[in-house]
Amino acid sequence: MATRNKIGVLDLQGGVHEHVYHLQALGIEPVKVKDAEQFNELAGIILPGGESTCLIRLLNIFELAPQLKAAHADGMKIWGTCAGAILIAHEITNDKPQLDLMDITVERNAFGYQLDSFNAKVEVPKVADGPIDLTFIRAPKIVRVGEGVAPLLQIDDYVAAAESEHCLATVFHPELTPSLAFHKYFAEKCGIKITTETMERPVRTSWMKLARIIQPVKK
Ligand code: GLN
Repeated sequence: MATRNKIGVLDLQGGVHEHVYHLQALGIEPVKVKDAEQFNELAGIILPGGESTCLIRLLNIFELAPQLKAAHADGMKIWGTCAGAILIAHEITNDKPQLDLMDITVERNAFGYQLDSFNAKVEVPKVADGPIDLTFIRAPKIVRVGEGVAPLLQIDDYVAAAESEHCLATVFHPELTPSLAFHKYFAEKCGIKITTETMERPVRTSWMKLARIIQPVKK
């Protein structure tokens, strides 16, 4: 039986480094996963946000999908962020399902175009003590949760975060805002104790706040 005591971040495409830095801020040295053998040492893996079509293609090209599913069946927990949540969903309203590991239905690109991305301050009582900033980038919506799946955050008509015994799904990107609460929550779900008191990693100002006036060069 595999000794599963590390956290991995799938390192094929998308927001890998930001998850790594957030985990490091909690005192965890994560494994950047590119090879199937690396699944064996993982208590949990983060499937980052990015582009779900691209991610599933790469998972298939490198023949990682069956081993990822096998490791999950053997106890490896999975946290899908945004595109990662799309990958693990049982059903996708506007596309075909991929890994089918969590009984949720998602709608891809449910808020519109990339330019319809936004930040929100929300309370997620089970995960964080106070309100936290979250970033939604061309996010999906979780539009149904099945048996054995509990919503962690409901906003308007959709679920933004949900968990089952073995999976966590968030349609936003907690790795892009300072709070470490979701990473701590996932690590503890994986049985890894967090001893650091640090609950924030100062991150670069959001690209959405970077509006500035650019003067054309006068000739
Ligand atoms: N829109 C992307 C998709 O459907 C997800 C975006 C993201 O991960 N930020 O795959």
